Amino acid sequence: MGEVHHFINGVAVAGTSGRFGEIFDPNTGKVQGKVALATKAEMGAAVDAASAALPGWAGTNPQRRARVMFEFKRLVEANIDELAYMLSVEHGKVIADSKGDVQRGLDVVEFACGIPHLLKGEYTEGAGPGIDVYSMRQPLGVCAGITPFNFPAMIPCWMSAVAIACGNTFILKPSEKDPSVPMRLAELMMEAGLPKGVLNVVNGDKEAVDAILTHPDIKAVSFVGSSDIAQYVYSTGTAHGKRVQAMGGAKNHGIILPDANLEQAVKDIVGAAYGSAGERCMALPVAVTVGKKTGDEFVERMIDAARGLKVGISTDADAHYGPVVSAAHKAKVENYIQMGVDEGANLLLDGRGLTLQGNEGGYFIGPNLFDNVTASMQSYKEEIFGPVLQVMRVETLEEAAALPSNHQYGNGCAIFTSNGRAAREFAAQVNVGMVGVNVPIPVPVAYHTFGGWKRSAFGDTNQHGPEGVRFWTKIKTITQRWPEGDIGDQAFVIPTMG
Ligand code: NAD
Repeated sequence: MGEVHHFINGVAVAGTSGRFGEIFDPNTGKVQGKVALATKAEMGAAVDAASAALPGWAGTNPQRRARVMFEFKRLVEANIDELAYMLSVEHGKVIADSKGDVQRGLDVVEFACGIPHLLKGEYTEGAGPGIDVYSMRQPLGVCAGITPFNFPAMIPCWMSAVAIACGNTFILKPSEKDPSVPMRLAELMMEAGLPKGVLNVVNGDKEAVDAILTHPDIKAVSFVGSSDIAQYVYSTGTAHGKRVQAMGGAKNHGIILPDANLEQAVKDIVGAAYGSAGERCMALPVAVTVGKKTGDEFVERMIDAARGLKVGISTDADAHYGPVVSAAHKAKVENYIQMGVDEGANLLLDGRGLTLQGNEGGYFIGPNLFDNVTASMQSYKEEIFGPVLQVMRVETLEEAAALPSNHQYGNGCAIFTSNGRAAREFAAQVNVGMVGVNVPIPVPVAYHTFGGWKRSAFGDTNQHGPEGVRFWTKIKTITQRWPEGDIGDQAFVIPTMG
């Protein structure tokens, strides 16, 4: 049985708290390892290591920092099969999807390889007589990232690659449910040439998170997880003087207009709703059909498509999706299904009670499909985060667009149509942070930026892309002149350039 401890100052460090979390294999329901849960003092040791490494790393020229990212990318690519397997057996997502998780992280590493260009700053020659103005982006110092279970490769890379390339030193606190991949990535980043102490991984639970949020030497915190914790992290971290971005939960809607290519929309939505067992913050768990005919046809086709899905163990190459992450999460999803039934929605496919022969203890849930879901239902208002698609029926695009706009979450949404004007208007007006037009999971590419609105994100700067560089740096603006002799200014008047 494997044990996962910490990675501090370039070496593996055994946890001293005596507290451990269990790591399950969601395919079997058996414990396959344990993870050390850090104390405040252990977090303090990581902060000390990161503080000691800071001057050297912040003073390393950006091109050399970028070279570490290039080498890291090469090493991750060389080890992608091992990483994907490790990810799959702790998380439960299928191997191909696990590779996608690693690849989306690598996309951000590629973006971070361009850091010399991204940090160039701005310059105005002759802003006043003999006066030049320039600005530079400087690292913040010791920074931290707290990540969720559902993307154990991609999300640690979103944060650490950009923060480190910007010249910060970093502490990662991964999800205690699947910590092995973030630990392995940290080892590979050290192998790529990162000096000791620049990247540290401290495993733990609330105690470790609180130690981050209250430590006086941590300057910025990036968090991704559920909304209540995101809000707690945002309010506690900012109250302790930190810069914080905290991404939360989601309930993404896909709107299907009568002129959509229905066959393609069904193919898109079946993957977006049930892929990774619905455990994606950009999953598409709500389909809003416009008009009775569209609704009837969509539901008919979706029943067939969802019925045809193969649920299997995560290492089964033929499976469309694997188990959910834990027994507690399985129970939570099944409770939401019962809630939907009790609230009067029509359960057309019931995936509860699925067992796989030979893997009876695994956390499997078959595909679930609800029709006639309404906005007043609690099972609609909350995030389920499982293989459950809820169909809502409306008569007009206005009614459809109001649903994502008025929902408490505003991460992503999508519209399926062949009408460019309707799509353009919808994209401009909808009160949601990321929009897909005939694209079911509109996760922006790494050189754009990722972030939702409303209770899907607290703070005002997105992940990666130029917004990420802004989050992980502070701007300094210099106004300079080099006069010859006395220039006789009036010192009591606010200087103007006029
Ligand atoms: P979670 O909120 O349970 O855990 C996230 C992190 O917070 C973990 O590192 C965990 O150790 C820590 N944590 C848990 N409870 C805590 C507490 N009481 N105090 C302090 N820290 C605590 O989330 P999860 O179940 O790991 O991930 C799934 C959630 O993340 C979903 O809601 C999903 O929508 C969301 N998510 C959002 C995005 C996004 O970008 N918006 C991306 C991925 C996942």
